[in-house]
Amino acid sequence: MINLQKLSGFLLSIFREFPRRHLIVSSALAGCLLALATYPNNDTDFKRQIAEPITLVIEERAPEVVALEPQEFELHWKEQRVTSGDNLSTLFQRAKLSPIDVYKVSSSKAGRALRNLYPGETFRFGVDSDGLLAELHYIKSPLERHIFTYNNGSYSAEKKLLEPDVLISYREGVIKDSLYMAGKEATLPDKLIMELANIFGWDIDFVFDIRRGDSFSLTYEDRYLEGEKLGAGNIIAASFTNRGKTYQAVRYTNSKGRSNYYTPEGRSMRKAFLRTPLDIFRISSGFNLRRKHPIHKKIKAHRGVDYAAPRGTPVYAAGDGKVIASGYSKPNGNYVFVQHGQTYTTKYLHLNRKKVRKGQTVRQRQLIGTVGSTGYATGPHLHYEFLVNGVHRNPRTVKLPQSRPIAQAEKVAFLKATKSRLTQLAKYQQATQLASVQHNNSSAN
Ligand SMILES: [Zn+2]
Repeated sequence: MINLQKLSGFLLSIFREFPRRHLIVSSALAGCLLALATYPNNDTDFKRQIAEPITLVIEERAPEVVALEPQEFELHWKEQRVTSGDNLSTLFQRAKLSPIDVYKVSSSKAGRALRNLYPGETFRFGVDSDGLLAELHYIKSPLERHIFTYNNGSYSAEKKLLEPDVLISYREGVIKDSLYMAGKEATLPDKLIMELANIFGWDIDFVFDIRRGDSFSLTYEDRYLEGEKLGAGNIIAASFTNRGKTYQAVRYTNSKGRSNYYTPEGRSMRKAFLRTPLDIFRISSGFNLRRKHPIHKKIKAHRGVDYAAPRGTPVYAAGDGKVIASGYSKPNGNYVFVQHGQTYTTKYLHLNRKKVRKGQTVRQRQLIGTVGSTGYATGPHLHYEFLVNGVHRNPRTVKLPQSRPIAQAEKVAFLKATKSRLTQLAKYQQATQLASVQHNNSSAN
């Protein structure tokens, strides 16, 4: 039905454009519609077949009209990629389309989908020979596109979602210099190295406690579309051994559709406090195990941890709480103090910029400032303090509140869903161990 509408709309547009040929075309119209009614309701088939019956019918009556066909039916395509600062108007302008076109598309019912554009998305403009925007493809990702079609004076849209093929991949590595380097060596994409650090970063201090010989292994999704690799999806299960202690995590999507990482027993990996209130991959000294923290050693009676990081590195609230101070003093420079419930307080000193005000409520991982060297500081770093009932504790070693276990109602489903994932990880681990044993034996022979 849609195809027939599309076609009749199109033929009507020919009427408007070629009034002198009105009669010829209209006599062909009935035949065309009849012929097309028997064709499959599929877009690509439709495009391939549309020209044929029409050409045939018209040729019989008026050969001179053949010049209209089939070029008149083909759209001229232009492509524009969204870059930062783009909006619909700038994109349409670059595609040589008018503000009226922008209005018509965006004011249509389906125009909602075009409200938030992101860099990297693509627009394909299908313009007919009259300069009319007949089709607009908004390609949000290889898996999601919105097709806008001009129909009787307005645009309608159809959202198309494609399902990728998902294969499971396995990687493992041993740390020599840094987690990042070891991840690279294992050919893990950056995104997954960071996700790995995020999953275990609650338990393991990736800045200070990573040692040579620490190891990791993980299974993750590799996504393909029509044989072409789209990139890595989520980590499914992972294991990290830090100084002889092994931590395991497995991904689970609960009945509400929310995904999280849990221990095999069903405790959330996520804790009430971030172990490190900065992105660890921005911390220069945390990256290189051989470098120590010069500022930390020089300052006597030091009551916190110093993280050397480039000026401007985001500083996050370690946990949900309320800002009880946001100010400046000579020794501290710009500082922010956050109170978490009755028991805990965290302090962030020497900030370049403060991003929160006193009295403000903050969520865990909310930006509260940026790294700087204000106050008594020899270079850009974050000085971080952790207080329990008003007493300074070492944020690196303080025992943090236990995370909540998975809801009792979910427990059975959780165990069922995650068991096979953990077994799969273990099988891969054994297989590579076996392979390396055989390799060693054969090289000994
Ligand atoms: Zn300090």
